[in-house]
Amino acid sequence: MTQYKMSDDGLDGLKNPFGDLDQGGKIMAYYIWIDGSGQHMRGKTRTLDGPVKCVHELPDWNYDGSSTGQSMGENSDVLIKPQAIFKDPFRRGDNILVVCDTYGPDEEVHPTNFRYKCNEVMEKVKAQKPWFGLEQEYTMFDFTGKHPYGWPVNGYPGPQGPYYCGVGADKVKGRKIVEAHYRACLFAGVKIAGSNAEVMPSQWEYQVGPCEGIEMGDHLWVSRWILCRVAEEFNVVISFDPKPISGDWNGAGCHTNISTLAMRKPGGMVHINRAIEAFSKKHKEHIMAYDPNSGEDNKRRLTGAHETASIDEFSSGVAHRGASIRIPRQVAKDGYGYFEDRRPSSNADPYLVTHRVIMTMCLSE
Ligand code: ADP
Ligand code: MN
Ligand code: MN
Ligand code: MN
Ligand code: MN
Repeated sequence: MTQYKMSDDGLDGLKNPFGDLDQGGKIMAYYIWIDGSGQHMRGKTRTLDGPVKCVHELPDWNYDGSSTGQSMGENSDVLIKPQAIFKDPFRRGDNILVVCDTYGPDEEVHPTNFRYKCNEVMEKVKAQKPWFGLEQEYTMFDFTGKHPYGWPVNGYPGPQGPYYCGVGADKVKGRKIVEAHYRACLFAGVKIAGSNAEVMPSQWEYQVGPCEGIEMGDHLWVSRWILCRVAEEFNVVISFDPKPISGDWNGAGCHTNISTLAMRKPGGMVHINRAIEAFSKKHKEHIMAYDPNSGEDNKRRLTGAHETASIDEFSSGVAHRGASIRIPRQVAKDGYGYFEDRRPSSNADPYLVTHRVIMTMCLSE
């Protein structure tokens, strides 16, 4: 039986002896897309004749939708169209990661392609320059995907308290993965903004943003892919489940920070308050869009405890971490800036989240 190393010093996989072989001028492009679950990503590689600068130089491609929960009838080919390019931190050189969206046999938008409708509304409201900053929380599990990484083999770690932003082998687990992911995001060109250890041991957060419009979804999705790929090297599995451990343990969210050009200017508070008022009338619609199972996943997390608001009620407040919407204290002081929607779950689709935000905030729909 294979013996797996359980500590996170297993950097062995990163020493790839073939990694610097000459590619003969060709490059490898790793096409990535979102599968039928709405929360997992798939991808595959193709060779291109040389370095690529612009997404329009890349050919469309396809894959077998019957193996990804995305088949539409007889014809199971799903067409993928390249939409964003990032540098590949694993293969390096001129090799790239390519974020794609999905289409059916007659080039119709695939029902699971939420990037398309997100991009449509982002184009409509371009002049308002909407910015987003997402706080991605996640939990590390061992290679079985069932046991939280670094937790005692039997039983539980001590209660929450010392772990948040902690230091020391008894407080944090998996920092090597966090550091590798951060560097890999910077190399790739992902707008990673920060990271911190979370309240539950083996739970972490990183932030991506500010990103404008459709860029938010592209950057967050590729950052998730890079995270799962880095963790693979350590035999660790990343979970984006919003309540990975039931009981007195914090869940995981994807807090969404939001602003428009008008909100970022002095006096912008009027616009922030107007947006929050609009949000208060669309609570159900937002909950539907804030996890991949129309609110079912978030039910386990938005309990009103553990720094969350109840899933059934809308609330807002300055510096209030138990509310649906929080206005940061500094923003209230300055009178302009941004606001935070704390409801989206860690496995939410950022295309769906930012789409819903724009619909309510800018299009009154
Ligand atoms: P918290 O105090 O809630 O933990 P974080 O520091 O984790 O906040 O995350 C704040 C996020 O807000 C960052 O991703 C940052 O990029 C984003 N952000 C900052 N200013 C703006 C803005 N004007 N509009 C949208 N997002 C913003
Ligand atoms: Mn084949
Ligand atoms: Mn945060
Ligand atoms: Mn957090
Ligand atoms: Mn937050």
